[in-house]
Amino acid sequence: MTDLQRTLIEQLGDQCVSLDPGVLDAHAGDWSDAAKHRPLLVLTPRTPADVARALGVLSTLKQKVVVQGGLTGLAGGATPQAGEVAMSLAKMNAIEAFDEVGGTITVQAGLTLEQLQTHVEAQGWFFPLDLGARGSCQVGGNAATNAGGNRVVRFGVMRDLILGMEVALADGTVLTMMNKVTKNTTGIDLKQLFIGSEGLLGVITRLVLKLEPKPGVTNTALCALASFDAATHLLKELRRRLPALSSFELMWDDFMDAAMDIGGLKAPFAERSPVYVLVETLGGSEAGERRALEEVLEYALENAIVNDVIVAQSLDHARQLWAYRETVGELLGRLKPHAAFDVGLPMIAMDRFVTTMKAALQERFPQQTHLFFGHLGDGNLHLLSGPYADAAALYEVEKIVYAQVQACDGCISAEHGIGVVKQDFLPLSRSSAEIELMRKLKALLDPSGILNDARVIAPDNLYGGAGHPPSAPH
Ligand SMILES: Cc1cc2nc3c(=O)[nH]c(=O)nc-3n(C[C@H](O)[C@H](O)[C@H](O)COP(=O)(O)OP(=O)(O)OC[C@H]3O[C@@H](n4cnc5c(N)ncnc54)[C@H](O)[C@@H]3O)c2cc1C
Repeated sequence: MTDLQRTLIEQLGDQCVSLDPGVLDAHAGDWSDAAKHRPLLVLTPRTPADVARALGVLSTLKQKVVVQGGLTGLAGGATPQAGEVAMSLAKMNAIEAFDEVGGTITVQAGLTLEQLQTHVEAQGWFFPLDLGARGSCQVGGNAATNAGGNRVVRFGVMRDLILGMEVALADGTVLTMMNKVTKNTTGIDLKQLFIGSEGLLGVITRLVLKLEPKPGVTNTALCALASFDAATHLLKELRRRLPALSSFELMWDDFMDAAMDIGGLKAPFAERSPVYVLVETLGGSEAGERRALEEVLEYALENAIVNDVIVAQSLDHARQLWAYRETVGELLGRLKPHAAFDVGLPMIAMDRFVTTMKAALQERFPQQTHLFFGHLGDGNLHLLSGPYADAAALYEVEKIVYAQVQACDGCISAEHGIGVVKQDFLPLSRSSAEIELMRKLKALLDPSGILNDARVIAPDNLYGGAGHPPSAPH
């Protein structure tokens, strides 16, 4: 037994330290195609104090560690690198407190998003963050990546739903910032540093989350449209007339074809259309909300904004309409090794971006599949492109796409984060001064560089700031 293993077992107990080959394999990587490595061992702390003790040991021994939530990340941030220990938060899933008057909940970071959603809905409350990986992703992972998902257009991203947070720093110091009120102007809001920082600055151990009253009724509709332009008109009309609008998910026709194929789903409409939109409203009264949605959709039909519409008649019918959009997990599997883009674009540039990219990728990579879909309401476009057996080809497609993102004044990641998969390209979205400040913050909070090292900010990737694309493959 190594010193590291002995000390960790002394500090945490042998139940929290695993060398089992099956466990090591299960923690060798996330959903991305980043190169997988078996960690040296897997730590499964049971309490925030365990996390702090483990970090204390690791920093004393200068042992590198990767933090793992539900491993659904698509940027390779939670994938171990050679010689790292993995710290999984999976056993820290307690619900500690529930304020049913004010609508807040205090949870440990390893609770899955779906466990949280189910728990609060049973009590008449609602946690609005929602994404396809809900069954496995953890709220700590959602905070570390500042996850977005299907309802950002109404409720914002994870950052908007976090009131308080506890973080264990790399040396084991615990920062308890369990604020429970919406308005708090007591100095610098330090928790913001950790939201979206992908585990670089500390391990999130507990969270205070903001809840919404559970909506009385959900209405769902699938619309077929003649163009992207028509989709932007529909979004504007829905926003203007339906404050209950909670999702506006756009799917181009080739995504729809692939979804039907992989999901064994029937064509939703008799005629094919270039663009489809899934609309969801979450509101108070059944009759009122449904009538309001139907009125806008009737107006859209009469004014040729949409070609055709299906309004879900039951919850089960709504699930069937969502099924097209929810095939993403299976498509990610089918197109491996893939490039899974989650770019942010000004809405005005999105159509041009898609048209240009479809043509460019089809010409350069005709053998690969390129699927476009996105959360139009918040300018977040996904492009799933693959399979690429050759790493150089994968890198080339990334360069093509990110150059166009930059030309459109967009950002290279709107929700999955940078991890290792995009770190070469960070200078396209952040200036060298910003990256330098990130580096200084990292050095301040983790001077030995033990925590999620060599992620987000590449060790040697200062290409000179925005506008200078990298040239070496990652
Ligand atoms: C089918 C599918 C659909 C998806 N849809 C969406 C979507 O719509 N929107 C979206 O935003 N994302 C989406 N994702 C990506 C992914 O689910 C999110 O990024 C999610 O927030 C990751 O959570 P996780 O617990 O799985 O984190 P992991 O994958 O385990 O980790 C992600 C990063 O966070 C760090 N981390 C994890 N937990 C902690 C912690 N407690 N403290 C500090 N750092 C931590 C890790 O080190 C890593 O850098 C999807 C993924 C899949 C597979």
